[in-house]
Amino acid sequence: CGIYGVIGLANASNFVALGLHALQHRGQEAGGIVSYDPEGGFNSARRFGYVRDNFTKPDVMDTLPGPLAIGHVRYSTAGSKGATAIRDVQPFFGEFAIGGCAIAHNGNLTNAAALRKQLIERGSIFQSSSDSECIIHLMARSIQKTLAERIKDALRAVEGAFSVIAMTRTKLIGVRDPLGVRPLVIGRFGEGWVLSSETCALDIIGAEYIRDVEPGEMVVIENGTLSSSRPFAPAPSRFCIFEQVYFSRPDSIIGGRSVYETRRQIGVELAREAPVEADLVCPVPDSGTPAAIGYAHESGIPYGMGIIRNQYMGRTFIEPTDQIRNMGVRLKLNVNRALIRGKRVILVDDSVVRGTTSRKIKDMILDAGAAEVHFRIASPPTAWPCFYGVDTPERSKLLAATMSEDEMRDWIGVDSLKFISLDGLYRAAGEAAGRDPKAPRFCDACFSGDYPVAPADKLAEGFQM
Ligand code: 5GP
Ligand code: SF4
Ligand code: MG
Repeated sequence: CGIYGVIGLANASNFVALGLHALQHRGQEAGGIVSYDPEGGFNSARRFGYVRDNFTKPDVMDTLPGPLAIGHVRYSTAGSKGATAIRDVQPFFGEFAIGGCAIAHNGNLTNAAALRKQLIERGSIFQSSSDSECIIHLMARSIQKTLAERIKDALRAVEGAFSVIAMTRTKLIGVRDPLGVRPLVIGRFGEGWVLSSETCALDIIGAEYIRDVEPGEMVVIENGTLSSSRPFAPAPSRFCIFEQVYFSRPDSIIGGRSVYETRRQIGVELAREAPVEADLVCPVPDSGTPAAIGYAHESGIPYGMGIIRNQYMGRTFIEPTDQIRNMGVRLKLNVNRALIRGKRVILVDDSVVRGTTSRKIKDMILDAGAAEVHFRIASPPTAWPCFYGVDTPERSKLLAATMSEDEMRDWIGVDSLKFISLDGLYRAAGEAAGRDPKAPRFCDACFSGDYPVAPADKLAEGFQM
């Protein structure tokens, strides 16, 4: 998901709408904005579909006045299978005796099912099926006197991955979980302040990037000034390495490092680890593009656009059902036949999950007359589900959970298939020594099975680590 908040600018919701538009790649199912206006109080709008189709219309935006607003773009993760209901669309809002508070959450809480059960037993009435709603109910039960303190109480009780943006009548608040699994950055725009999942959504309004909210940090912005506190016990950070590979936009800066540069460097590492003789390096657009550029540069093999993407389709993976996802490949990608015919082609993609994308692309490329097809993948084999906010299928549907690399190559039906090593990926992400197995700098559980937070709810369901 993507989250965004603005304080101290007239009609803050308009800036939030622009920010969410720049974060649309993080969630395309639905979006919502809550604003606060000293005269009219809190207002909210939640809609299915793209930001540009909803939060540009005067009949929606005119209902969201005021100098303070937060928003959310949603993509449903493992916790909430099936179609999203409008009641699951964030931000969530709670009205307490000490005032109202809205929250927008990116990530996934790994103990939400257990918490929900306890809260319901003690009288909480849930409105949605979302893990994030626990935060509101935990706040309601807190005895703290300020909403900011209640948020701390609530977030100390939850486990898993959370970047949260919250707002009260006077405050904009940002928090990252102790491991900092999901991103969150701070920006300034004139007299106003901005919080955003990614820097690309600061750029869109012309805001200046100040810094990241640090793992385990809470920032509170009120009356034009920012204060910082540390609600949690300190822990070594474990940012999601898949944000670097796929999820974030390549024009964003994470922890001071360009996502594009990391992805290009993955391609360089891949070319060193897994060279092959060929005539052409082609990205599977868009997510494989920077790595393909790096691969071509390092190998000296010409880069070409052998696959053309229809710009009017979204991200296939984020389509919620298998059926739509299967169709999605053809709706979204087509082969540039004139370029491919007779060539030995290296295809660079970001990841292989179920393998459906790779298999269909291979069919299309061979159909267009390619002489050989070699897949090079910018992440290690995805062998474990993510429980921290990226939608991966259950283990049995992950190709790499049941097959060796050679078996995957044969199943996809290509001449060769190679994945970057975990060490290579770490090097590309700026860790010159590779992955330190005793203290890895990133979360890489979907590749390594090393889960930095025990997935309590899943373990209770019988998941085997
Ligand atoms: P597959 O067809 O192997 O199941 O999916 C792999 C494709 O899904 C890749 O092309 C990748 O770009 C795309 N993808 C989109 N979103 C995600 C995601 O959240 N996780 C993973 N692992 N791949 C994703
Ligand atoms: Fe990211 Fe994978 Fe960890 Fe999930 S399991 S947070 S996708 S690195
Ligand atoms: Mg892709």
